[in-house]
Formats: sequence, structure tokens, C-alpha cells
Amino acid sequence: MTKITDYILQANGKTLFSIEVIPPLKGNNIKELLSNIEPLMDFKPPFIDVTYHREEYIERPQLDGSIKQIVTRKRPGTIGICSSIMHKFGVDAVPHVLCGGFTREETEDFLMDLHYLGIDNVLALRGDPAKPYKTFKPRTNGHSYACQLVEQVANMNKGQYLHEEADPLSPTDFCIGVAAYPEKHFEAVDLDTDVDYLKKKIEHGADYIVTQMFFDNSKYFEFVNRCRAEGITVPIIPGLKPLSTKKQLDILPRIFYLHMPEDFVKTVESCENDAHAKQAGIEWCTQQCRELIEFGAPVLHFYTMGKSDNIYKIASQLF
Ligand code: FAD
Repeated sequence: MTKITDYILQANGKTLFSIEVIPPLKGNNIKELLSNIEPLMDFKPPFIDVTYHREEYIERPQLDGSIKQIVTRKRPGTIGICSSIMHKFGVDAVPHVLCGGFTREETEDFLMDLHYLGIDNVLALRGDPAKPYKTFKPRTNGHSYACQLVEQVANMNKGQYLHEEADPLSPTDFCIGVAAYPEKHFEAVDLDTDVDYLKKKIEHGADYIVTQMFFDNSKYFEFVNRCRAEGITVPIIPGLKPLSTKKQLDILPRIFYLHMPEDFVKTVESCENDAHAKQAGIEWCTQQCRELIEFGAPVLHFYTMGKSDNIYKIASQLF
């Protein structure tokens, strides 16, 4: 399997196309997910990211009036989906690996499974708090921040495993991606502090960066320049999501803490219905992509969120 950084090197300055998919809700068929990916293979994505969804805590009233807490995972199957994508499409799958919900030992087991499957790229993330809680809590003996997870993966790449004192064992060979936020992570006091912590992830062994979605390209350009000024030299892959409903004008900034440019807000507000808003989203994102290609973005990474028709329309104008 090829490393993401090698794909970027081999592209020799040409911008690549890639996507992120999310596992279906438990009990649903994988066929819909695969059939959404299929048309996008026209644009030859060298890799496809698969998100990871941690456990949630749900309170269920019982017949006797008591409340029972249920722990469930609504979107399991990340490793299985990666394997399915690799076999069906012959492209590299990049599983997201979280600190949240894992002890260090469970993380090691998870990574060993990936290694045995021939998966050599991972996106290492802290993860959000387990629903419905508002603050992130690591498991006992789990990681609190993504930089610690990066360090664990980098140690395995050196043949250093937990609780093994023998001389270096057979090393893994993971290429490690991490997340970044051109408009700041919502918990960070300011962007400078956030970039300092991003730098720490690189110093601990991360090889490339994927950004949160943004609708204002100037945020990405400023962010890349800021990272370069801080000595962060690894590829910074922009994450993109075309807006597809009028409601997303409110929802996306609230969930992802991002700024919607005034011009775009006006355009979408003047749309009569969601079909028009979706078309406006396609046009805005296509223009974003043109500027990002001009800027020299290594890859355009699209958050599909289970839908591919609008991304197909955008990519067919660019790739
Ligand atoms: P960190 O890098 O650990 O940062 C979290 C916060 O802590 C930041 O505010 C940072 O400034 C601060 N910080 C970092 N290091 C330190 C330190 N050493 N000391 C003190 N403060 C520190 N979530 C999922 O659940 N599943 C997914 O599949 C998933 N995929 C994602 C893909 C991308 C491209 C992105 C951008 C996000 C994704 N997320 C996913 C969401 C992500 O898990 C959340 O945004 C999470 O809140 C932060 O993760 P992180 O890896 O950026 O955390």
C-alpha cells in the first residue's frame, strides 16, 4: 500500500482528488455506501478516508420507572468498510483512529489489525466527547490529545510496542495524518495556540494534515502561510464540503465553527428551494476548488457525508 505522502510526491505538483465517507447507521446495508463511491472512481482517488464513530450513552426509561443507560455505537464497521473499499475499488483506505473510547492497549490492537490488513495510512484524531456529554474524557489509560496517539503510532513504526521490553520488534509502517482547523478548533483559546499544538503533532511524528471544511478560501490560505511561518512543512490537504440545503447555512457554522462568506450567504438565501441551494453550493465549491488548485493544494479532499452527486458535478469540471 502506498503512503499518502508518496501519492502527493508522485503527483509532482498536480492536485489529486480524494473523499471521506462515513459508515452507514447500524443495520443498514453497505451497498448504498459503495454505490455512492462508485461514480467518483472516475476521478481516480488514490485514497478514501473512512470515519470512526465512538460509543454513545443513551438513557432508556424502563417499565418499572427506572432509567437504564445503554452504551451503543451507531456507526460501527470502520475497519470492515476500509477492507471492502480496498477490495472493490483497489484504492487505499484511510481509517480514522480516535483517542476517545480507547485505552492505549485497545489502540495498539486496533492498529495491529490495520497493519495485518495492509493498511498503512491512518488519520489520528482525539475525537469529540461521547454523546450526550459536552467535555472530552479519555478512557483510563487512554490518550487525552491526538499528539499522544501520534506518538504511540510513531513508536510502533520504530518497533516499540506497549509492555514489551525486548529489542525493537517488527515495526509497523504507518503514514500518519492529523486534523487541523483553519478557523481554530472550538476549544482552543486562539489560533496561535492551536497551531502550536498542531506543530506538536508533527513533531511527534505526523506526516500530513487534513483541514476542517471551510467556505472562505482566505482562511485556508492564511492558515497555510501561518503554519509555514511556524516551520510546519508537511502537506496541508484542504477539506471541502459543498453546501446542499438552505438549512446548512445555519447548521454547518454551528457544528463546525466556520465562517460563511457574505456573498455566499446572500446567494443561498435568495434561492427558492433546496435544489437551487444545492446548485449554488456546487458553483461556490467549484470556484473554491479552482483557486485551491491555483494555490497548489496537494489534494482536494471532499466530505461526502454519504452523497456523491454534487461532488461528481464539481469534480467533473476539475479532474
Ligand atoms: P487535538 O489535536 O488533540 O486537539 C484538541 C484540542 O486540544 C484543540 O483545541 C487543541 O488546541 C488542544 N490541544 C491539542 N494538544 C494539546 C495539548 N498537548 N495540551 C493542551 N491542549 C491541547 N471525529 C470523530 O469522532 N471521528 C472522525 O472520524 C473524525 N474525523 C475527522 C476528520 C477531520 C479531517 C477533522 C478536521 C476532524 C475529524 N473529527 C472526527 C473531529 C475531531 O475528532 C474533533 O474536532 C476533535 O474535537 C479534535 O480532534 P483533534 O484530533 O484535532 O484533537
